[in-house]
Amino acid sequence: MLLVVASISIGTAAQSYIKTTYRRWSAVESDGASGSQVARRMLDEFGCGQVGIKPVAGSLTDHYDPQDKNLYLSEENRAGGSVASVAVACHEAGHAVQHAQGFAMMRIRTALVPAVNFTQSIWFYVLLGGMWLNLSGLTTAAIVLFAFSVLFHLVTLPVEIDASRRAIAYIDASGMSPANAAGAREVLRAAALTYVAAALTSVLQLLYLIGRNRSRD
Ligand SMILES: [Zn+2]
Repeated sequence: MLLVVASISIGTAAQSYIKTTYRRWSAVESDGASGSQVARRMLDEFGCGQVGIKPVAGSLTDHYDPQDKNLYLSEENRAGGSVASVAVACHEAGHAVQHAQGFAMMRIRTALVPAVNFTQSIWFYVLLGGMWLNLSGLTTAAIVLFAFSVLFHLVTLPVEIDASRRAIAYIDASGMSPANAAGAREVLRAAALTYVAAALTSVLQLLYLIGRNRSRD
């Protein structure tokens, strides 16, 4: 029970922090260039001229797709020129640069995607089956399957932090005012916290599953 409450609180706190931080810096205009324009300059500077920038529906749906090598920016961050828009656009450009440079953690993360999609879809059914049939081998297998998700969250962390590090380095070098650059840093730090929260929650869940399995034995 405590674990469920802790997990939900951590997740909710991280989500509300990114939302308020993003909203605050969305109201502050940067130097006039839109998120898409600054991302384009960053991509070109790092030899990613072939990476396209496309619109995507929704809010904070921004991502880089390594399959088709495009940045997908939400309308607010693509056309808008707020400090938050530039921060998010440069973070996504950071992922494209990671991809182009063969950043090891990103390669590992991409390689894990098919396995994690599979384990995520079946682990809970394996756990239910193990409990139903009272087979400890099956519940242990379910925990091993769940551990792939935990691993994925842990590998995601350095990938996200590195993309933000690249974005901040570019923003600092691009001549954004120190006050606005500090705002961009704040937005990206808040975004990173959501990944830390997700990783922490998954570790807690794993520990809970292991503990439960032990006490059953
Ligand atoms: Zn990212």
